[in-house]
Amino acid sequence: MPSNRYSLFSLLRETLRGHTGWQPAWRDATPQAAYDVVIVGGGGHGLATAYYLARRYGIKRVAVVEKGWIGNGNIGRNTTIIRSNYLLPGNVPFYECAMKLWEGLEQDINYNAMVSQRGVLNLFHNDAQRNAYIRRGNAMRLNGVDAELLDAQAVRRKLPFLNFDNARFPIQGGLLQRRGGTVRHDAVAWGYARAADRLGVDIIQNCEVTGIRTQNGRAVGVETTRGYIGAGRVALACAGNSSRVAAMAGLRLPIESHVLQAFVSEGLKPFIDCVATFGAGHFYISQSDKGGLVFGGDIDGYNSYAQRGNMPVIEDVCEGGMALMPRIGRVRLLRHWGGLMDMTMDGSPIIDRTPVDSLYLNAGWCYGGFKATPASGLCFAHLIARDEPHPTATAYRLDRFARGAVIDEKGMGAQPNLH
Ligand SMILES: Cc1cc2nc3c(=O)[nH]c(=O)nc-3n(C[C@H](O)[C@H](O)[C@H](O)COP(=O)(O)OP(=O)(O)OC[C@H]3O[C@@H](n4cnc5c(N)ncnc54)[C@H](O)[C@@H]3O)c2cc1C
Repeated sequence: MPSNRYSLFSLLRETLRGHTGWQPAWRDATPQAAYDVVIVGGGGHGLATAYYLARRYGIKRVAVVEKGWIGNGNIGRNTTIIRSNYLLPGNVPFYECAMKLWEGLEQDINYNAMVSQRGVLNLFHNDAQRNAYIRRGNAMRLNGVDAELLDAQAVRRKLPFLNFDNARFPIQGGLLQRRGGTVRHDAVAWGYARAADRLGVDIIQNCEVTGIRTQNGRAVGVETTRGYIGAGRVALACAGNSSRVAAMAGLRLPIESHVLQAFVSEGLKPFIDCVATFGAGHFYISQSDKGGLVFGGDIDGYNSYAQRGNMPVIEDVCEGGMALMPRIGRVRLLRHWGGLMDMTMDGSPIIDRTPVDSLYLNAGWCYGGFKATPASGLCFAHLIARDEPHPTATAYRLDRFARGAVIDEKGMGAQPNLH
């Protein structure tokens, strides 16, 4: 049975009858023999792709095959930041497309994803950084993206508790994107899952893809722990496991997997009203609606599929936090976890066909793929439906590493071990 439509009316109705009428948000589908499209990976990107395939391109015989449960991957592990403050031509329009989709997402999928455009402030600490941020801000504004340069006084008015006096890295100002902010990450997964399910998409959890079957150079289905599923087209959206899954079709990707960790403190009264990033180290912070400080830093310096945190990175991130805002030293850490990043060598993603016919790839999101989720889903759905790249994602080709046409956005790549 399809889930209820959420509205003030349905909330009032359920309140009056003791909340006994809510349906599950999506069906627990059993795999069918074949689908038009099988999407491997039930993270944000896979689910968004399924939704846009059904909604915008009318392809509804779609299965999303997830080895664990919806929300267990990076979609439920990230620090929830969205922004479109990019510099390079391939990236700015794409991330701005995502931002515009975020702005209408909740009405589109009928789900409260707690989209909060509270602003993202990138701090700078020296003249060279100021120049780089001026350049970035100009590029953004030329592309119709909002950007404001703040001086040190303006930053001090906004975040007075940062370490301005006697700081090792004095704050000279910041680049602010007011339309940036945060979105509740697991609500994005649940919202897309529910919206896709309502359009007839099968969401199949606890079903690991163990092989990709090909015939005459064409992908025809996937082997899974719940049996073989035939597919007109196979679409990979496996984030940190992209290399491993693509290898099942004989592909070697220009990707390394690294762990990225995140941290949440005990709940505090509201005192940070934006997302702030430290420009002299790798540390960024925001405050959740429950009051917890949500922060993170660097990826681990070595390759891993471990999906868990470790002490050296805790120390490193906390050092960054102490340098930027010493008061964090009195806050108790509540939780800490890790997720798997598929790092491309230029820090930019891949949305493309592969050398295997009918096999499509969505990968290489590094540590910035959450903010891309709606645009990634839309562009991937377009590629799968039309067999040609979406105009907004033409730069994200798999062969750009062979051609030298890399999109080397600083702060994203090209050497994952240095970030
Ligand atoms: C700590 C941390 C902080 C981050 N912070 C931010 C941030 O603030 N802003 C931002 O933009 N990005 C951030 N990111 C990055 C972002 O979360 C990822 O780039 C993005 O979520 C990846 O896309 P996804 O949601 O589809 O991935 P996932 O949710 O990981 O989805 C991939 C799915 O594929 C499944 N899968 C893998 N192999 C198989 C298989 N063989 N068969 C079936 N299923 C399989 C996995 O189980 C997983 O559910 C962060 C990531 C982490 C870990």
